[in-house]
Amino acid sequence: MDILNESVALGVDLIILGICVREYMYNKRVAGLLKTAPQYNIDGDLKSIVERQQTKSIPYAVIRGTVTPIGVPLRSSLVPSVSGVLQIVKLHEHRISRGFSGLWMEQCKLLHKSTNEMPFELRSQEHGVEIVDVLSAAVLDVDVVYDSYEPSTLSAFDHIFGFFSGVRQKGIQTTEEVLREGSFLTAIGKLELDGNSLRMQPSPEGGLFLTTATKSSLIKRFEDAKWTWILKIAFCGAVSAFLIGLIARKIYRKKKQQKEEARIHNLLETERRERRSRSRPLTLSEDQLCVVCVTNPKEIILLPCGHVCLCEDCSPHIATHCPVCRGKIVSRSAAFIA
Ligand SMILES: [Zn+2]
Ligand SMILES: [Zn+2]
Repeated sequence: MDILNESVALGVDLIILGICVREYMYNKRVAGLLKTAPQYNIDGDLKSIVERQQTKSIPYAVIRGTVTPIGVPLRSSLVPSVSGVLQIVKLHEHRISRGFSGLWMEQCKLLHKSTNEMPFELRSQEHGVEIVDVLSAAVLDVDVVYDSYEPSTLSAFDHIFGFFSGVRQKGIQTTEEVLREGSFLTAIGKLELDGNSLRMQPSPEGGLFLTTATKSSLIKRFEDAKWTWILKIAFCGAVSAFLIGLIARKIYRKKKQQKEEARIHNLLETERRERRSRSRPLTLSEDQLCVVCVTNPKEIILLPCGHVCLCEDCSPHIATHCPVCRGKIVSRSAAFIA
């Protein structure tokens, strides 16, 4: 079909548009939630504030404090002078591979990821709030304390093998990220009273944020992202509208062409009938007339039975069986009775 390409392009564009809308909604929702989230100081009053709530929890709260391990802090495995409460070691393979277009493109693939965490709290003087389930945080600002890239040494064989397989390793990158002990962070999530101590966990509404940014700069980050998605939505929407227009124009043109063809066909048919009626003999005996309309002369022979019993006008309406002998019609032809 001639609108296949446009339809496929429209389908892909609508999928991208859907993703953009989903991202926009997420950013808008989080920005809205962050704006309404109340900010509390970590002090002696916080516990009683949470206790006063009916559910003994605040669904979305902002607190700020210093990362303090509960117990002996983790030591960085690659930089021993660094200690923290969360450690993420990643191993990435950098390689170049031949894409569909035949061009070599650089790729980065995660080979291994290991995490190590321990309980910790955000503290302000002698008061603290334990942070739970930190690895599922939507935003988690950690320090990169180690980043080393080792280029691969490839032999001539590796080069030749790489050329044919389409993948060639360039190097291995090792990084270590640590949530340092003593860093001052903003945490946003569900604040609740667990026994006698306070803890914060991912909120069912907006997740958990653990960031070096302040509440206002975090809101700005989501607002900015929201506008970026609006621009993308506008662009994808314009592409969709253009493609829909293109498809509609093609369908309209095709319909118009079909109409024109039908009009010419009818015109020719009418002319043919008139011409034939002019050349017909004026007086016909009854056995010379079409058995269906009993007006026009018999003009069509049905095969294989061989009956000449229909006029040209009635012939298209008799599709399967001969009206005289009920024999199956395989083919038909114009008959000239001289
Ligand atoms: Zn007839
Ligand atoms: Zn027949």
